[in-house]
Amino acid sequence: MKELFRKIKKIDKLLQLPELEGLRDLYSDAYLMDSIKYAVKIVRNKINSSMITIENNIDSAIVSETIKHITLEQKPNLQRVLNCTGTVLHTNLGRAILSNRAKESLYSLADQYSNLELNLSTGKRGSRYDHITNLLQKLTGCEDALVVNNNAAAVLLVLTALSKGKEAIVSRGELVEIGGSFRIPNVMDFGGAKLKEIGTTNKTHLFDYENAINKETGLLVKVHNSNYTINGFTKTIPAEELVPLSKKKRIPIYYDLGSGALFDFSPYGIQEPTVKTLIKSGVDILSFSGDKLLGGPQGGIIVGKKKLIDKIKKNQLLRAIRVDKLTLSALEGTLLEYLDMDKVKTDNPTINMLTVDLDTLERKAIILKKMFEKENISFNIKNLNSLSGGGSLPDKKLPSFCLIFEVDDKVSLPKLVENIRLNRIPILVRVKENKLIMDLRTIKEEDFEVLVEEFSRVYKGTI
Ligand SMILES: *Cc1c(COP(=O)(O)O)cnc(C)c1O
Repeated sequence: MKELFRKIKKIDKLLQLPELEGLRDLYSDAYLMDSIKYAVKIVRNKINSSMITIENNIDSAIVSETIKHITLEQKPNLQRVLNCTGTVLHTNLGRAILSNRAKESLYSLADQYSNLELNLSTGKRGSRYDHITNLLQKLTGCEDALVVNNNAAAVLLVLTALSKGKEAIVSRGELVEIGGSFRIPNVMDFGGAKLKEIGTTNKTHLFDYENAINKETGLLVKVHNSNYTINGFTKTIPAEELVPLSKKKRIPIYYDLGSGALFDFSPYGIQEPTVKTLIKSGVDILSFSGDKLLGGPQGGIIVGKKKLIDKIKKNQLLRAIRVDKLTLSALEGTLLEYLDMDKVKTDNPTINMLTVDLDTLERKAIILKKMFEKENISFNIKNLNSLSGGGSLPDKKLPSFCLIFEVDDKVSLPKLVENIRLNRIPILVRVKENKLIMDLRTIKEEDFEVLVEEFSRVYKGTI
């Protein structure tokens, strides 16, 4: 053993080994020496436990440990996955994916200076929010707009700016938890608004709002039931029906829309009022996410009356939750596509996947099935529902086409599902009653080849 230890060269000698030439081109000597030191430690341990013996070449052992260490260390943790779950807005998988145009905007600005807060025509300081204001005015009919880091931040900001120290009236049926312990009552508390609960879990009437209003009231708050539905004996007052009361009492309405659609999904079986409709009906302030139904980057978009937006812009909290240039560039790219509502339907991946017709999904299923058959893996095609997800459309089932793979024994399926998830390009599927389900809604045609190749390789190593 001693003899083996003596064979370990000094670090600077090891650094010059010809096998490390490739790495020497890529990394500095200091970084490589650190990695070699680490590799030497591993090799020493292996000698101690007799995993390396006199038959092994010590230099090669160190080289291979060095390469292994650097490869692992340099690999990003955040990586692409193939979403075959059919859930278009999957919070665990990063919600909306960007359109090409949004990606281009982001990409072209990433390593450049920009006019983020510079008004190019006057040469004076500008506002970062100006870049998207015109677009949002045109697309939603709002007077003014503002963007923050996410909608949770938007909710907090609006409540603080408009109802701190005053009462904010909310229906008990809308005191929701959005996830990640973000609960509307707690957020109100945090923002300094006094929560005035009205109605009951299942029913809230207009007179409940009327009776609750007093001289302490600062805001009427509506919250979208993004992630649940109540059925049966229920009543809620839609935002637009609150407008006359709000006007009469001069108390603004704020609607936390959650998802916020700029595209009209109603012909596709998704009943979400567009932001434009709500603004037209007289709602004063609305906020919604950038990466839910909008199909853009993470963000919290606040639109509404200029007087109120001005007040919100003056709040100190805004500075702590302001968006960066990369988000703004991706958001501008996303919004620009909405100028052409027919094109956004094909070009925005979220809208495209939510509105795709059954024929297209069936055609995709047939192509993918054939590609798997070439690898001797046989799937059945089935007409199943997919969920839109992301806490955006509760219970919303969209008919889709899926590839189903069944195995008889109960052991190999979980193993297969785990192995494809742990793959170098992780593949995420649905599993139900010993069936592996791939939903064509979220699988891009351009990914078919890589999906078949990666799945088949793992499959052959598992089953
Ligand atoms: C999703 C959601 C939020 C939070 O939005 P994020 O952009 O995820 O921060 C707030 N309110 C409602 C009603 C939501 O659905």
